[in-house]
Amino acid sequence: MNSDTELNNPSKYFNKYFRVYLIILSFMILILAFTPSSSAVVTNNSSNSGNYKITYLDKALGGNVQANPEISQNIPRTYLNNKIFSMTKNGSVVLKFGNGNGPKLLISAGIHGNEEEPNIAVMKYLEYIKDRSFNGTLYIIPFDIPRDTALNSRYYLGKDPNRIANVKGTPGYNIIQFAKNNGINYLLDVHSGGGVTPAGWVYVNSPTTITSAEKNWSSYIKTKTNCDIILNPDNSPGMLRDFANSAGINCITLEVERDNMPTTTAACTEYKMFISAVKYLGFPGYISTNPEVFSTNPPKNASGVGLTTPVSITFTRNILAGSNFNGIYIENLITHKKVPLTSKTIKGNILTIKQANNRLSKNVYMIYIPIGAVRDRYGNRLTNAYSYQFKTI
Ligand SMILES: [Zn+2]
Repeated sequence: MNSDTELNNPSKYFNKYFRVYLIILSFMILILAFTPSSSAVVTNNSSNSGNYKITYLDKALGGNVQANPEISQNIPRTYLNNKIFSMTKNGSVVLKFGNGNGPKLLISAGIHGNEEEPNIAVMKYLEYIKDRSFNGTLYIIPFDIPRDTALNSRYYLGKDPNRIANVKGTPGYNIIQFAKNNGINYLLDVHSGGGVTPAGWVYVNSPTTITSAEKNWSSYIKTKTNCDIILNPDNSPGMLRDFANSAGINCITLEVERDNMPTTTAACTEYKMFISAVKYLGFPGYISTNPEVFSTNPPKNASGVGLTTPVSITFTRNILAGSNFNGIYIENLITHKKVPLTSKTIKGNILTIKQANNRLSKNVYMIYIPIGAVRDRYGNRLTNAYSYQFKTI
């Protein structure tokens, strides 16, 4: 019998099988060496990129979102944001965070390409969460349809993408397929629109379809932010929210004013609603009762900035001049000189700073806002100095 022979001559068979084993092993090493780590997985836990994976979701939807000025003027040029800007030229992307336990939440930002407040709010949250570890799994699509965002267009191939999500192959349909494939049980659908009251709205599904989780989720956000809850009277099967609900995924929609207030003011309102929405499910989020910087224009680390563009800083609360307001300055980091200012004005939650002279070309400018430079009407003050820089054209 073969088995007897093998047992009787172990070294001979050892050599024979060992050679075969070595050949197979060599092939496997070769295959591994020449296979991309995964065609989809681009980044995972590298030192400068945080605790996330970023993958393509839909390669048919690529576009240069920075061609949209609302995007290029308000989103900082961080390592992660630059990577997203670059990748979205070739398709929509999804970032994955968390440890795989607990709830699975998908955040969908801007299925309408003319609604940039969702993109600004969600990109702000990415910077907050990118290095954190937490329970649960969070998937974030920062730009649902990058090519529509690039064009500032509501329409996808001439149709409203949020009325055809139930049609196979459309962007909304593919988002829901992704959610189903990944066992996602909550979807946060983030929008902006016309005629929205200042504290924002949460749209929920119709009385016949709304789930208890959707009711509780929206009530929690209302309690925390004072927003209104708008009940959709009818079913709209082609809406992302309805289509998610019909697929067994709890879904609510955040909505803030798009047209009649500064983009960053509305984006900040959306951010606050957004933080409540993720906290309801146990994900990290924080809003200070003190005013903090929400966004800047020009953005942090931007290059190619115009020589006369005013600097505007949006805070998380409406502000007044604080005791250190005169300590705000702009410095040219090449000449090491502070530049003369003509005005520093406050409107709502936005501080606008104008320089007396044109900036120098290809110079780096730093904005410095000391502790206590601004406060809110209750006396809460800026408790950390803030500075950032950008480069001129
Ligand atoms: Zn919309």
